Amino acid sequence: SVRYYDWIAHFGRRTPGKIAAIDLASDRRLSYAEFDGRISRLATHLRDALGVKRGDRVAVLALNTTDTLEVQFACGRIGAVFLPLNTRLTVPELQFIVGDSSPKVMVHDTDLAEVALTVAKLCNVSSALLLGPGGSYESAIAASKPLDRFESVTHDDISTIMYTSGTTGLPKGAIITHGMTFWNCVNLGGPAYVSPSTVLLTVLPLFHTGGLNCYTNPVLHAGGTVLIMRAFDPGMALQLISDPSYGITQFFGVPAIYQFMAQHPSFATADFSRLVIGGVGGAPMPVPLLKVWEERGVALQQGYGMTETSPAVLALDREDAARKAGSSGKPVLHTEVRIVRPDGTDADVGELGELWVRGPNVTPGYWNRPDANQSSFTDGWLHTGDATRVDEEGFYYIVDRWKDMYISGGENVYPAEVESVLHQLAGIAEAAVIGIPNEQWGEVGMAIVAVKPGHTLRPEEIHAHCAANLARFKCPRLIEFVDALPRNATGKIHKPTLRQKFSAPKA
Ligand code: ATP
Ligand code: MG
Repeated sequence: SVRYYDWIAHFGRRTPGKIAAIDLASDRRLSYAEFDGRISRLATHLRDALGVKRGDRVAVLALNTTDTLEVQFACGRIGAVFLPLNTRLTVPELQFIVGDSSPKVMVHDTDLAEVALTVAKLCNVSSALLLGPGGSYESAIAASKPLDRFESVTHDDISTIMYTSGTTGLPKGAIITHGMTFWNCVNLGGPAYVSPSTVLLTVLPLFHTGGLNCYTNPVLHAGGTVLIMRAFDPGMALQLISDPSYGITQFFGVPAIYQFMAQHPSFATADFSRLVIGGVGGAPMPVPLLKVWEERGVALQQGYGMTETSPAVLALDREDAARKAGSSGKPVLHTEVRIVRPDGTDADVGELGELWVRGPNVTPGYWNRPDANQSSFTDGWLHTGDATRVDEEGFYYIVDRWKDMYISGGENVYPAEVESVLHQLAGIAEAAVIGIPNEQWGEVGMAIVAVKPGHTLRPEEIHAHCAANLARFKCPRLIEFVDALPRNATGKIHKPTLRQKFSAPKA
C-alpha cells in the first residue's frame, strides 16, 4: 500500500519561509519550516516522553488553534491516531467518547482544563498536555529534539477517529485513514480551486470534518496558507475577508455561518472581491439565503459530504452555482455515487432515493460499532441516510435526511423544502420544521421559528405565505416561536431536541 507522506515536512523543505498557518487569536504566524519543526519536536515528545506508540490515540480538547493541526501531523509521524474532541460536550458526553476511544494523552485548552482533567481521570487517560503560553505543550516542544525517524505508515493505517456531529443520535466514531484524507485533498482541491496561493479562513471547528477538511487540510496539502479563527464570529469574519493585508481567497461554512454573516450590519459593506470560493455544506442550504449572497456578488458553492467520507462527495462548480442554485453539484473525483430505492435497485432520474457512496475517501467503518458497520454498508457502498435526486444534467439535490421526513395524510414531506420556503419571509431569522404525531393525519408539520430582531411576524402571515408556495399537505399546521433554535457545535439545527420539546401530540 501507498506510504503516508507528510505534507508539512515536504513544504518545510520546499517553501520553508512561506506562511503555513496563522493563529488569529494569538497572532502566531508559522512558516512551513517552523510548523514542521514544532510538529517534529512534538512527535518526539509524544513518543519518547509520553510513551505514545503506533496505534495509540491522542485526544485534543480545544477551541480552534494551530496547535490542533500540529497534533494531527505529529500523530501521523509516529503512527498514532489523532482524536479531536467536541468542546461543546458535557463531561458525561465526553466520558462516552473518551471511554469509547481510550486515548493515551489528553491535549487541552486552559479554559477547558477542568472538563478535560475530569474526563481524563474518569477514563484513565495517563497524560495531559496544557496548551497556551506557559503550558506544558509549549515547554515540551521547546525541550524536545526533532524526530529521528518517521514511523512507517501507509494509506490504510488509521490517522484519525472523528466523531460524527450527533445530529441524529449519539455521535459515532468514524475511522479515518491517511488515504481518506489524502483523497479528499485530491478530490476537493479542483472544485474548491485550492492552490499554493490559496489563503483560507477557517471558522468551523477543527474537531469536525468541515473545519478540518474544508479546506484546511487540502490547503496545507497544496502548500497554501490557513488562518485559524478560535471561534466563529460573524463580524470578525467579514472584517478579515474584507482586509487586503490578509488576502483571503477561500472560505467555508455551514448554512448557519452564512446566515449569521448575512444578518450582520457590516455584511452590506464588506469587500468580497478577493474571495475565489465561498463553500457551503453540512446541512440543507435555503435557496433564499443563496440569493442574498448572490446579490452581494458571491456565488456560494454548495457541496455535500459527511464525516464518514472525509468529507467531500458532491460539489457544485463555481460556473454552475447561480444556474443550479440549490444543487450540491456532481460527484467529486474518484467518488462513485448511486441513488437507491428501499428495495436496493437504482432510482430513475428525478426519483428520490437514498444516496450511496463508494471510493477511496469512504471510511472502512465505525470504531467499536459493529451494529452500525453492519447496517451502513453494502458491498463497499456507504448508505448516507440522505434522500437525494439527480436531474437530467447529472446535478444532485440533497433533499433531506430520510429520518427527518414525515408523512402527513399519506404524503411524504421533506422539512428542508418547507424550511426553504419559510426563509423567503424577510422577518425569519431561523426556521425548522418537524413532524408531530396527529390522530387525523398521522403526522402534521410544526414550524419552529425565530424572528429577526426588530421584526414582527404573526402566525397568520406564515400560514398565508406557506399556502401560497406549498402544496396543502406540506404546509405546517402548527407554529411555535422561539428566541433561537438549538444547534450542535457544527451549527446544525438539533432536531432531536426540538422533537423532545414539542412532540406531545396536539390537535
Ligand atoms: P450524526 O451522523 O452523528 O447524526 P451528522 O450526520 O450531522 O451527525 P456529519 O458527518 O457532520 O454528521 O454531517 C453529514 C450530514 O450532513 C449528511 O449526512 C447530510 O445529512 C448533511 N449534509 C451535508 N451536506 C449537505 C448539503 N449540502 N445539503 C444537505 N445536507 C447536507
Ligand atoms: Mg451522519
